[in-house]
Amino acid sequence: MSWIVPAADRVPTPHLGRQVSPVEVVVYHNTATGPGGGPQGADRPRMERWLRGESAPSSTNFVITRAGDLLQGAPLTERTWHAGRSSWRGREGVNAFSIGVDFENAGPQEAYTSQQVATLRRLVPQLVRAFPKLREPGRHVGHKDITPRKIDPNPGIIPVARAAAASAGRTQVTTLFFVGAVAFAGWMVLRSRA
Ligand SMILES: [Zn+2]
Repeated sequence: MSWIVPAADRVPTPHLGRQVSPVEVVVYHNTATGPGGGPQGADRPRMERWLRGESAPSSTNFVITRAGDLLQGAPLTERTWHAGRSSWRGREGVNAFSIGVDFENAGPQEAYTSQQVATLRRLVPQLVRAFPKLREPGRHVGHKDITPRKIDPNPGIIPVARAAAASAGRTQVTTLFFVGAVAFAGWMVLRSRA
């Protein structure tokens, strides 16, 4: 479960946290970068250079490009440098116990693409499967919620992430119930034949 994207979409970063703790929270960001020449204005090469550590001493676990591509910069088991000085529920240094998800986006003046929103809705249930605590909607926060003076991500996206987390939780419970019911029915059938 540590890489969740195909090999072609893995761009391992050299910038990893020294302290690896269980994932308690997901922090959402904007890359604060303008459009490139790809579909929907994506600049995937620029995103890959950043993840490879070539453009800035920072990193993140996931980038969602304007085209909706999901790039993974570090395994789920590794902590990245995305939050800087930060505090969540009274705990400092959020990098140590979070994973970062960055939207390729210039800032509040630019809306997220529908492809980005669709990719977010697919990603969140995978994170909930890996870290069941993350089904709690309050564990999906914006950078601006944990670091003063930050303005990312843009309004409206955290509620989407939280709704996806809550419904992923419900899906898991429903699936467990369904699997249990089928197993019980099967057992009843076998028993009646004996
Ligand atoms: Zn940020």
